[in-house]
Amino acid sequence: MNQAKISISRLLCVISIMCCVFISASLSAKEWLIEDKKAYDSIINKVQAGDVIVLANGTYRDFEILFKGEGTKQKPITLKAETKGKVFLTGQSNLRLAGKYLVVSGLVFKDGYTPSSAVIAFRSNKETLAYHSRVTEVVIDNYNNPDKRESDYWVAIYGQHNRFDHNYLAGKRNKGVTVAVRLDSENSRENHHKIDHNYFGPRPIFGSNGGETLRIGTSHYSLSNSFTLVENNYFDRCDGEVEIISVKSGQNKILNNVFFESRGTLTLRHGNGNIIEENIFLGNGVDHTGGIRVINKDQVVRNNYIEGLTGYRFGSGFTVMNGVPNSKINRYHQVENALIENNSLINVQHIQLAAGSDAERSAVPIKSTMQNNLIYNDNGQQPFTLFDDVSGMAFKGNVANTVAHEKLASGISQESIVLKRAKNGLLYPTDAKLANKGATKDLSPIKKSATGPSWYKKVDSLVAFGSGKTIQVKAEDDALFNAVLAADSGDVLVLADGDFDVRKMIDINKTLTIKALNQGQAKVTFQRSTLFQISDGGSLTIDGLDFNGSNSPDSSGNSLVRSKKWGMVDNYRFVMRNSKVSALDINHSFHFFDSGSGAFADYIELSNNHFVNITGDLLRLNKEIEDLGIYNAEYVKLKHNTFDNVQGALVNLYRGGSDESTFGPHFEMTNNSVKNSSKGKRNKAASSLHLHGVQVTHIENNSFDDSAIVVIEHTVGEPKTAIKNNIFNKTPAPSITELYVKGSHTAEVLNNKQSL
Ligand code: CA
Repeated sequence: MNQAKISISRLLCVISIMCCVFISASLSAKEWLIEDKKAYDSIINKVQAGDVIVLANGTYRDFEILFKGEGTKQKPITLKAETKGKVFLTGQSNLRLAGKYLVVSGLVFKDGYTPSSAVIAFRSNKETLAYHSRVTEVVIDNYNNPDKRESDYWVAIYGQHNRFDHNYLAGKRNKGVTVAVRLDSENSRENHHKIDHNYFGPRPIFGSNGGETLRIGTSHYSLSNSFTLVENNYFDRCDGEVEIISVKSGQNKILNNVFFESRGTLTLRHGNGNIIEENIFLGNGVDHTGGIRVINKDQVVRNNYIEGLTGYRFGSGFTVMNGVPNSKINRYHQVENALIENNSLINVQHIQLAAGSDAERSAVPIKSTMQNNLIYNDNGQQPFTLFDDVSGMAFKGNVANTVAHEKLASGISQESIVLKRAKNGLLYPTDAKLANKGATKDLSPIKKSATGPSWYKKVDSLVAFGSGKTIQVKAEDDALFNAVLAADSGDVLVLADGDFDVRKMIDINKTLTIKALNQGQAKVTFQRSTLFQISDGGSLTIDGLDFNGSNSPDSSGNSLVRSKKWGMVDNYRFVMRNSKVSALDINHSFHFFDSGSGAFADYIELSNNHFVNITGDLLRLNKEIEDLGIYNAEYVKLKHNTFDNVQGALVNLYRGGSDESTFGPHFEMTNNSVKNSSKGKRNKAASSLHLHGVQVTHIENNSFDDSAIVVIEHTVGEPKTAIKNNIFNKTPAPSITELYVKGSHTAEVLNNKQSL
């Protein structure tokens, strides 16, 4: 390609298409330089085997690329960036491939979202698929539909013999699988696709079903074989939902992938004869990190290295499920002929067998073997839980450092095991006689740096509180408002002693910390119905401020903080410490914090605060009323606060429905003092805490004095609730009910003092 010629053509703007004949190779192969959509449309029907389409560097907005053609193995048709990483597809752009031997590389999708059902689809329509085609070194970065309930795939792979490799996919926040292998037509089955060396970057908690990172097949065609190879990929904090990978077809191979601090599991949900080999799971003790879940026939799980996983139940470090007798295709097929051998399970808190056993799932695992696995737990606790008869699983030659579960003792011998970290970063027993137990020493975990395009930085889009500059803010008119506007994400605003009477609502669309120079000496009042609104990109920490509602409008329904009223796509964090909130009482229903519908908090923490005289609710996290398993906050923590004369509910946290794809919400309340609260006639919850469908609840060392009842409603998911060492003075005892499961409640209620 003649660079001078290109610049001349650009300069003159006469033609935007160039066509050069390759000097060598093939006489017919052309290279087309494309500078806009129109030019692309004018040539795409002319490209022939061996041609190369070069997208000139720049930003293309609303460009729906249909890349079609018939290449050959020797002469593929290529669509590539002029310079890798310098071609941006924004707005409502997407890419479809249709034909044979097509190669795409070097493109970046960002600042927008696909108007169709996929950002990249290996088909143009139901009939015209892509075969022997490759997408490599492509980036899809935070390319999300702003309505997070709108579902799309980032990548939908159809056809056969396609490869998806060295791509970067991070920050999917709206509903829908990140990468889906579709088997919904004959020509997409037995596909032999290869998915390798991709970087699957952080996928935040989605807060309902539909947050899988990779799915191969669907239940409908799950008895078909897929022959998809998933190899050498890096899954970095893929937290969307309980399934990181959902295998729903047969004869796939999942080899040598790294799962780093990812919540959820690699689930063999449907389909038979899959091989899961030499994968590395590193949980580092992060909540809900899981490993492998086995369902169906003929699955092989061999030589995997699994360390530091905390997950339990269907999210355990290792799970073998019970099936449903004569299962429908979308339920649970019985585990049969599973071979589980030479896996290292190190500090894996939970290994669950015959999991999910109930009246429906009564078919126990059969004809299966678990052998030569290495099981090690620092805490000395054996990790197995058996939910049903596991005599259909043969246990042979396994070793553990702990006393084995009594029913498995014949197949798991207790040994004194000393582990040492090898050069590959993994732990192995030092004792040579254990050399054939657990995973092979030959494991070579794929490095993060060896995945994705080398030219695209793997930066974390989550900005930590306090990671930026410190900015002093004087107690003057509009100073706080203007300081927030001018700040960068990560900055800390330090408020001087004095009065801040805020005239306008402050929009928080970056990560900010607002703190008092001297605790309690920065006094904040506000004149609008809300002081702080958290919107997309926003997270807020407040420290040491004194808030007072006396200058707020004399109307009902004010709030001190709220998230955007409707439709956020970014998760947010909200923390308040060492602060005082008083006189939110100018009218009724003056709330402290009000979540919008569709908003999702990664965490909300209130610690060491004093709340007094509030006519509304403290935390309103009950906006997802459709009972679809969606909720407003993952972790809610209240520590060392006092609540005095709060007329509404302290916390209303609601997760309705029976979906089990998520891990939360989690609620923790420790060492708080609640006085004369939640008894207002407008408190619709008629309780101090109303926790519906919360999965983990821990209420300890609080005193409730002359306050309304604590109400806990268990739904699905075997929720864990502990209520311990609290004082309920002139306050009714907590009410705990099971709404779905028959029988008495499962909460642990211990050492609470009750007086009326
Ligand atoms: Ca799912």
